Amino acid sequence: MNNSKDKNCSSSFNLNSIIRKNILEVDPYISARIEHDKEKNYVFLDANENSFGSPLSFLNSYNRYPDPLQKELKEKISNLKNIPSSKIFLGNGSDEIIDLIYRIFSRPEVDNSIIFPPTYGMYEVSGKIHGVNIVKIYLTKEKYQLDLEKIEKSLTKKSKIIFICSPNNPTGNDIKRKDIEYLIKKFTGIVVLDEAYIDFSNQKSLSLDIDKYPNLIILQTLSKSWGLAGLRIGIAIASADIIQWMNKIKHPYNISLHSQKIAIQSLENRDLFFYHLKNILLEREYIKKSLEKIPIIEKVYPSSANFLLIKTKLNFSSKNLYQYLVGKKIVVRDRSKIILCNNCLRITVGIHKENEYLINQIKKYSIQKIKK
Ligand SMILES: *Cc1c(COP(=O)(O)O)cnc(C)c1O
Repeated sequence: MNNSKDKNCSSSFNLNSIIRKNILEVDPYISARIEHDKEKNYVFLDANENSFGSPLSFLNSYNRYPDPLQKELKEKISNLKNIPSSKIFLGNGSDEIIDLIYRIFSRPEVDNSIIFPPTYGMYEVSGKIHGVNIVKIYLTKEKYQLDLEKIEKSLTKKSKIIFICSPNNPTGNDIKRKDIEYLIKKFTGIVVLDEAYIDFSNQKSLSLDIDKYPNLIILQTLSKSWGLAGLRIGIAIASADIIQWMNKIKHPYNISLHSQKIAIQSLENRDLFFYHLKNILLEREYIKKSLEKIPIIEKVYPSSANFLLIKTKLNFSSKNLYQYLVGKKIVVRDRSKIILCNNCLRITVGIHKENEYLINQIKKYSIQKIKK
């Protein structure tokens, strides 16, 4: 990074050198509850809460501010994922974490981020909100893998963050692990590896190797495999140093008390989690096999996620199929306008009845179209 070479492409990594100056200088807000939160029998007159309680008295504890560092929930996640709590950050959804990463590492109008479309939209949206330049290097055609040669050529001293999504949304495939590791080693900025769908994949999470990579931030979430999208809990796994910077600049009470409580209870119910996971994988196979037999479907892409990307044959526009399905009260995601996803729809795996209904409707549509 500090060498005179133009390319931001050596294996030296110095965290403080890529943190924005204004962030280095922040003196964080210390919340009232941080020092004595364990002491249950104290009289708490420090945070201007309403000691009489909330109008819904059976929800009495909601009159208190939540644990700003979510210790109990982090401990649960730590046990589940075999990662020490000090290397875990929780955000109000992964979206908050993406926002914080931009704040820490990217100067508006100066720095750039590298993204690999077709991929998750928030990397670009959040970057634009921060005034960061977005450099797009497309995934390879059909296989949707990293184009390492082009990526390396695009890196400059102003490249601060690379976003990799694996399994990738909306294509559903895993990105090759050796390519990911190659980039992490080459790049002197931050690599964000979004593993939102990792539980649906046969690939191992890179989180277990977090100690090898001081410039890696892994994103996971409770929104998908854990079925808690409504709670808004995103997870970052990174070095304790990076986690400290996130803690320092986040809003003090970023995860509500309710979300913390429900998440803690949910994580205790691992049997149901595995049962749902198993069923989602079975249903994914069922949809794939069924759709592959339908004449208007050109391709069902391999999926390591809880959705399938499908392509309709050239003379049967996916847009028409999308509209037809809406008419049958089924909403899927039209991705046909996205680069490299011409004529593609993204279909989330539902429960068996929903999937059966979807498949039958697509069959009907296919029969109608082919008759014409
Ligand atoms: C769904 C999804 C997330 C999860 O976002 P949350 O804000 O945690 O709900 C993150 N990354 C990708 C690629 C996703 O598809």
